[in-house]
Amino acid sequence: MTLYGGIESGGTKWVCAVGSGPDDVVARTSFPTTQPEETLGRALAFFRQQPEIAALGIGSFGPVDVHRDSPTWGFVTTTPKPGWTNIDVGGVMQRALGVPVAFDTDVNAAALGEQRWGAAQQLDTFFYLTIGTGIGGGVMGNGRLLHGLLHSELGHMRIPHDRAVDPYPGACPYHGDCLEGLAAGPALESRWAQRGETLPPDHPAWTLEAHYLALALVNLICILSPQRIILGGGVMQQPQLFPLLQREVQALLNGYLQVPALLDAIETYLVPPALGDRSGMLGAIALAQEVARS
Ligand code: ADP
Ligand code: ZN
Repeated sequence: MTLYGGIESGGTKWVCAVGSGPDDVVARTSFPTTQPEETLGRALAFFRQQPEIAALGIGSFGPVDVHRDSPTWGFVTTTPKPGWTNIDVGGVMQRALGVPVAFDTDVNAAALGEQRWGAAQQLDTFFYLTIGTGIGGGVMGNGRLLHGLLHSELGHMRIPHDRAVDPYPGACPYHGDCLEGLAAGPALESRWAQRGETLPPDHPAWTLEAHYLALALVNLICILSPQRIILGGGVMQQPQLFPLLQREVQALLNGYLQVPALLDAIETYLVPPALGDRSGMLGAIALAQEVARS
């Protein structure tokens, strides 16, 4: 069995794994994202103890440079995370391990993982959105992960914000009340003065949350025409959120698009990741398999 390495580089923790698919992960470790040198060092130490890998895939928090011909390919670039601005991750790992390295966003990796082994098998146009400490999205269009100018930043789209209904100004350091500023976990916590985990299921927080997320999803449905939408991250652990969101998306679309996915079959259209919290790590392994083949 050919083995591949995968790194899910999150703003809070790194997950490193060796394997070839969901049923063949032969080793895995996880540690907090501290300063870059220490974090990269721990990842290298892990991979050096493992059997040989054919390639390494990295799905990273961002913004990142994913353009192969750029001098800063593999860098975490303008992140506000202290110590991590303009840090070479992909290049350092490639030089130290001497194997081909694929480098993409954490959410693009998660989207690829879900397409290979999860909830988006057989689909070529869909996106994966995580609603956690931040909001981020990975997009696949016509079978390819979308990069373009940089990469998608779905969390920072602007959505209508009625300050008479919700006076909370928003938590994004760049935009205040962008989607992430209004609807990520920290916004929930500071608006309602308690963490999302402890808000009861019938709390008005959840209808407002579903409203903001549905506004964003309707924008994305109109722009991308996704065949399915996968919603992950800590906030989506609230089971009541899926039905609220499905109804609100239908209400906002108002019958304009007459396809089963948006009508009776919406439960199979807005779905959780089939790989659970392993989409990013397995997606990184899928990235490694792609770069090894190329
Ligand atoms: P990260 O985004 O850092 O990778 P998570 O996806 O777990 O990690 O997101 C953490 C955020 O999600 C926190 O703001 C936390 O309060 C919120 N969160 C985690 N679990 C739940 C839950 N069960 N219900 C509501 N919010 C949650
Ligand atoms: Zn923003």
